Amino acid sequence: MVNLSAPDRRSRVRLPPRPVFNFPNPFKPALSKNKMKQKSQNKKYSYDKSLIIVRNSKIHGKGIYAKKNIKKGKKIIEYVGEIVNSEVGNIRAEEQYKLSKKNKQNGAVYVFELNNKYDIDGCVKYNTARFINHSCEPNSRYKQERLRIWIVALRNIKKGEEITYDYGYDMEDYKDHPCRCSSKKCIGYIIGKKYRKEFKKIVNKR
Ligand SMILES: [Zn+2]
Repeated sequence: MVNLSAPDRRSRVRLPPRPVFNFPNPFKPALSKNKMKQKSQNKKYSYDKSLIIVRNSKIHGKGIYAKKNIKKGKKIIEYVGEIVNSEVGNIRAEEQYKLSKKNKQNGAVYVFELNNKYDIDGCVKYNTARFINHSCEPNSRYKQERLRIWIVALRNIKKGEEITYDYGYDMEDYKDHPCRCSSKKCIGYIIGKKYRKEFKKIVNKR
């Protein structure tokens, strides 16, 4: 069964701790090299450099920008990484979350849930898609196809626009994640669309 809430990354770190016996080695890939290639990722992975470019972002750190007009529905870049089993994914998500709390410049959690068996850890240099920033009014979204995740254009994107998607964060610790997307719909924090109603209710109560 595929969990469609997959890239709701924060949900990965709030799972109850697992029993310690059979504690998996977080640095050991879940699949053999061959299988991993077969299943999806490849370290030689590269993206279409005529389409997008990485440069400093007005939103946060580095971002990805359109080098030419991109049509709605176009696969812009694949979110790649190491495929690990869920236990390993949980441990890594936890570690990345702790790091991001210590150092706010350290993005966030890069572990996406692919299904109930496997996660993808995008915290690797070759995953250029990790630079994509969140926006309250994004021009792209993620799309899962079996064990692969693509960033796809939600609408026509103009040359020079920064590529963004909704990180889908819930409201836990939202104050730690200010949003500077500067879109008209910006609510000031990185909170997924499905939680924004709830957020507005809380803010209006104050
Ligand atoms: Zn925003």
